[in-house]
Amino acid sequence: MADLLKALPAVKEMMAGLKSRSQSLALGGIQPALGILRVGERPDDLSYEKGAVKRCEQAGVQVRRVVLPEDASQEEVLEEIKKLNQDKGIHGVLIFRPLPPQIDDNAVCRALAPEKDVDGITSQSMAGIFSGSRVGFPPCTPQGCLELLRHYGIPLEGKRAVVLGRSLVVGKPLSMLLLGENATVTVCHSRTEGLAELCRSGDILIAAVGRREMVTADFVRPGQVIIDVGIHVREDGSLCGDVDFEAVKDIVTAISPVPGGAGTMTAAVLAKHTIEAAERTLS
Ligand code: NAP
Repeated sequence: MADLLKALPAVKEMMAGLKSRSQSLALGGIQPALGILRVGERPDDLSYEKGAVKRCEQAGVQVRRVVLPEDASQEEVLEEIKKLNQDKGIHGVLIFRPLPPQIDDNAVCRALAPEKDVDGITSQSMAGIFSGSRVGFPPCTPQGCLELLRHYGIPLEGKRAVVLGRSLVVGKPLSMLLLGENATVTVCHSRTEGLAELCRSGDILIAAVGRREMVTADFVRPGQVIIDVGIHVREDGSLCGDVDFEAVKDIVTAISPVPGGAGTMTAAVLAKHTIEAAERTLS
């Protein structure tokens, strides 16, 4: 049976460090705070919001929620973003997406102040990932994958990392972050030929494909470390990932479980980025 890369020990360690950083900020008169902007009541958003508020509380980050109705206009959403941008007491902003169809996602991403972009949605944050500059932040989910690998001491330098998925939220930023750690990165997508063979070639395989249990035994090999970013709800209400856990667990060396793996890291990273955004206001 593979080693389980559970998130909780990594989150606990992170929280201890964050608590002391937020206490240092408080001594200097800064209370780190996150603004959450939610439009509507999507169950996924509510569930993530609950987790985010809990982690922020543990880390010493205040949360201010701004909730608009599902039929809010683009002007209303942009107005709330403007207020959050101008509020000196708010250091980071999380905007739940996807937004309802009447709202232009690009306009929303453009409206957010890059220095408060703790979930990497602005073009300045994306540029920051490519250039390694300290503008904005990487999206929390890919950063969480990296933190999980780091916590468990999985070496990345010189290793072959295969990222299955190329979305702007996970796959692409993750591939850049892995490159930044000196891994040799292959990014796979829906047009990739010889997918299973490529996935097997990785020392580390990260599945962010959005297809329930697609990664089966023929995608993996002994010695591999697997991070499963996927989250799916089965018919019986239980959760599973993009990896068929039962099919691969006795083949690979280590795997992150679903739930309790990569997904659990995301909210912790959100708290971390918010504290870092507050610290950056001092420099
Ligand atoms: P997405 O936007 O749907 O992107 C999926 C990617 O997988 C695309 O690049 C797509 O390729 C590729 N793909 C789809 N079918 C494929 C196939 N049959 N073979 C090879 N590649 C294929 O998904 P996402 O937003 O990145 O999310 C990925 C997973 O992570 C989902 O399960 C999602 O629920 C989960 N997620 C978790 C968190 C969290 O834990 N906090 C956050 C975000 C997402 P093309 O580009 O060619 O279409």
